[in-house]
Amino acid sequence: MGRFSAASIASLFSSVFLGKKMIIAKSQKDLDKMRAVGELIAEVREALRLMVKPGVSTMDLNRAGEKMIREAGAIPTFIGYHGFPFAICASVNDEVVHGFSKETPLKDGDIVSLDMAATFNGFVGDTAMTCPVGEISDELKQLIRVTEECLELGIEASRINGRVGDIGAVIQQHAEKYNYGIVRDYTGHGIGRSMHEAPQIANYGRQGTKEKIRAGYCFAIEPMLNLGTHETKTLSDKWTVVTLDGKPSAHAEHSIAVTADGPEILTLTKEQKKQREKGKPIMAAA
Ligand code: MG
Repeated sequence: MGRFSAASIASLFSSVFLGKKMIIAKSQKDLDKMRAVGELIAEVREALRLMVKPGVSTMDLNRAGEKMIREAGAIPTFIGYHGFPFAICASVNDEVVHGFSKETPLKDGDIVSLDMAATFNGFVGDTAMTCPVGEISDELKQLIRVTEECLELGIEASRINGRVGDIGAVIQQHAEKYNYGIVRDYTGHGIGRSMHEAPQIANYGRQGTKEKIRAGYCFAIEPMLNLGTHETKTLSDKWTVVTLDGKPSAHAEHSIAVTADGPEILTLTKEQKKQREKGKPIMAAA
């Protein structure tokens, strides 16, 4: 789940509050717990990826996601978060983030972003992917691919002694090559015992600006890219964010830890960790 950016009036209070908060560096013991919850929610994500097809509803996916999280002994972090009613955010086509699950079946050619988080042993893992439903257009395939590439670049930029602005800068540079709208109203965030910790991690920015990155910092990096305008609006359910021009949007998110050996992706399945060692992409199905 994305954090409202400082620009969002809806969360002005929490932004001001979080803005003063220290970034919490995790101990080795904390990192082990972040790894455990990260792998747990990654397994849920990949199981849901396999379920996405025409005829399945986002409510089916939400029910399955909630069941898996609870059966793993974890808590679905989103339920009750500022009143959010579902275990996953399911955002279809022009829905950007925070979509409500519905009984309406997904159709061939749709894209659906599934965002989910779990709390386990006191720590949170947060991850999202955008899946094709059946056969999608080349335009949408590219949107999803570039969003995942932006995520990978943002993760690679998360290095000790770098700056938080470096993450946004590389994401922006890549997305702008394709003229995609970069969502500004919602951002990535620090993560740990709470889903949303400092710092705020925008998907645009300048190299060498913002907070210094230190060992033990954990981030949820989550580019949200639109085929058209970057502008969004929120529907009357007070949650679902859609693009202002009605064009499709894609979203990808990993929780990561900054370590002396470089960035470590926490939200990979056991199988994806093995594949990654062989150089496979970080978000595509293993
Ligand atoms: Mg998030």
